[in-house]
Amino acid sequence: MASFVNAEVGIQVCVLKTFGDAFDYLAPQPLPAIGARVLVPFRRQERVGIVVALESALPHDKLKTIIKILDNEPVLMPAILTLCQWISRYYHAPLSEVIHRALPKKIRLGESLEQLLQPYYTLAQPLAQAQANLKPQATKQHALLNLLATHASLSHKEVRGYGFSKAQLDQLAAQGAITRYLKPPECPISNAQVPAHVLNDEQNSAVHHILPYLHRFQCFLLEGITGSGKTEVYFTVIKHLLAQQKQVLILVPEIGLTPQLCRRFEQQFSTPLVVIHSRLNDHERLSAWQHAKTGNARLVIGTRAAIFTPMPDLGLIIIDEEHDSSFKQLDGVRYSARDSALMRAKALDIPVILGSATPSLESLHNALSGRFGHIKLTKKAQTGAKVRYIVSDIRQQKLQEGLAASTIATIKKHLQAKNQVLVFINRRGFAPILMCHQCGWLAHCLHCDSHLTLHTTTAKLLCHHCNMHQTRPTQCQQCTSHELIAVGLGTQRITQHLQTLFPNTSIARIDRDEVQSKEGLAAHLEAINQQTTQLIIGTQMLAKGHDFPHLTLVVVLDTDTAFYSQDFRALEQLGQILTQVAGRAGRAKAGEVIIQTHLPEQPLLQTLLKAGYHAFAQALLAARQQARLPPFAYIAVIRAQHHSESRVHKFLMTLKPYLQNFNLDLLGPAPAPLYRKARVYRLQLLLKATNRPILHQALHALCQHITLSRHQGVQWSIDVDPIDLF
Ligand code: ADP
Ligand code: ZN
Ligand code: ZN
Repeated sequence: MASFVNAEVGIQVCVLKTFGDAFDYLAPQPLPAIGARVLVPFRRQERVGIVVALESALPHDKLKTIIKILDNEPVLMPAILTLCQWISRYYHAPLSEVIHRALPKKIRLGESLEQLLQPYYTLAQPLAQAQANLKPQATKQHALLNLLATHASLSHKEVRGYGFSKAQLDQLAAQGAITRYLKPPECPISNAQVPAHVLNDEQNSAVHHILPYLHRFQCFLLEGITGSGKTEVYFTVIKHLLAQQKQVLILVPEIGLTPQLCRRFEQQFSTPLVVIHSRLNDHERLSAWQHAKTGNARLVIGTRAAIFTPMPDLGLIIIDEEHDSSFKQLDGVRYSARDSALMRAKALDIPVILGSATPSLESLHNALSGRFGHIKLTKKAQTGAKVRYIVSDIRQQKLQEGLAASTIATIKKHLQAKNQVLVFINRRGFAPILMCHQCGWLAHCLHCDSHLTLHTTTAKLLCHHCNMHQTRPTQCQQCTSHELIAVGLGTQRITQHLQTLFPNTSIARIDRDEVQSKEGLAAHLEAINQQTTQLIIGTQMLAKGHDFPHLTLVVVLDTDTAFYSQDFRALEQLGQILTQVAGRAGRAKAGEVIIQTHLPEQPLLQTLLKAGYHAFAQALLAARQQARLPPFAYIAVIRAQHHSESRVHKFLMTLKPYLQNFNLDLLGPAPAPLYRKARVYRLQLLLKATNRPILHQALHALCQHITLSRHQGVQWSIDVDPIDLF
């Protein structure tokens, strides 16, 4: 045999979780496909890797040969590989980390795709012939043949359901009477039961704005007030795409993926549809992924990570509540699913719709500057009940557990009218501080630069940063006084107080302590819809996505902190939360929103309440432009942490020289806003550039010199476009 027949070719394989992008190997002919899994020798182990290139610049005699090809077809479609490579470059994350996120666990572990397939059985011979080969006394086997004769095919599960055993099936198969074959599980098909609304003029014009762009890359910002019928606009556009045999991907925030929303989609489409979220088990996830990849599923609804779903006929990506912070991953690969969606759409030349009542300043800026199409829905789709804002000036007022007398009176009025009331405070627990009345000592976390929050239901002090908890002390640790007082407000304290004020009212507290699971949340929401709950105390868990038709009053406590926050996005988030929470009221009936504040004349607050979110956001944009902050500047944070303060500092100092020759502002090393967390010191460098390429050149130069693994135990990371500087 001529040796060139067996000539091996250099290839690149991405071995997952190696802090690297790819390693070079030799592969014999026929070569694996790009995107297929291979088994490779790696540091004396056998590891699963993904083929990412069929070339290598390294001399062949330095390379090891792959052990085995695991797939004939790529598991990582070219479009997803391209997306992963973009994310790896843009967020300066190793490709092996990005691809790790993109693939279901069972695929990463190298399991065969075949095991997803279910066994089915059919008759292999005419019934009479099969019967003739059986002993007459084999009654069970005869019955089994009769059963199969009356069905085209039956799954293993169905046959077992009729009371037959695996042994009986195996025996008939061995005799050649029946055939066993493997078939993928059916994709769940939703069944439209609800006719679509006739769109109003605004919705119609939104749809007609979008339809001409279905075959190319174009991003639309659909800015529509709560209840203006954005979802119905999505439905109509989606129907056009489905009719053209396209698939559609819909991304929603973690908190927005409610059974309510899924039901609405299922009621609109008679289409194979899968939902992808973090609570799926490995098998469900793989199954949904496979349905999307084979094109069986035409609609995919999912949270952040669903941006990696392979969809060969993808024709549109919709991002609902695009401003939501859960679209940005906060650890590991710090990608934004929204921005990644734009890249995926651009590569495929398909449109994207970003929907929100309170768009992010980035998207708004893009819309105002003409880069995105800008579509507005300004009217409620259903008889628009009005919401009235009441700014309650609480300066010098006597407060009862944080509530002004006028607020309590208004709550009473709404409860007496048999309506629902929501009190919104974004802090869980009873009180954020336990203080000694004698000497001013504060209960502090031993491991963090943070106070401990008092939780009375468990009689514990809890650190909200590291979860350290201890039983509530009875004495001051400084002066031994017994006079320890709870300072500040939390959901538990408000709930307790309102329960004493309104003893006959059914009250529910909805926060992370009370509601640990989505099922728990669903039960609470059901009780609210059934009106068994009349008064609700909640955190931002409740701020979006849920319809409460009987809610007529929202009370917002604690808005003032945002005006003092160091975080440059705090005001944007306040505006979004206030608008979203207010959107819960007045869905069906006219509503009121009370905002208790010490800053009633704050101009931005006034703009928000009088002129609405859009005007507020424009004012914030002007301020960001002045301060040269995103979206008018491009920033990245390099964070580092270690038990030794000096070691973190020294490490960040060694990075600086690599970044200094670029035209950017380099700030730090400076302590992170929470300097010590869980006994670890945290410092950061801030990079700020007037354009994106400069920022990326600098980070790229840095990554050339220093890998993202630990350095002398110092853990570090790069966050491009951070959503906060913590
Ligand atoms: P958004 O997503 O903008 O908050 P939704 O799409 O949820 O708004 O619509 C709000 C409510 O109005 C829903 O109950 C929806 O069924 C209803 N709705 C939407 N469009 C129409 C329409 N054209 N006619 C009547 N009702 C509508
Ligand atoms: Zn004391
Ligand atoms: Zn702590």
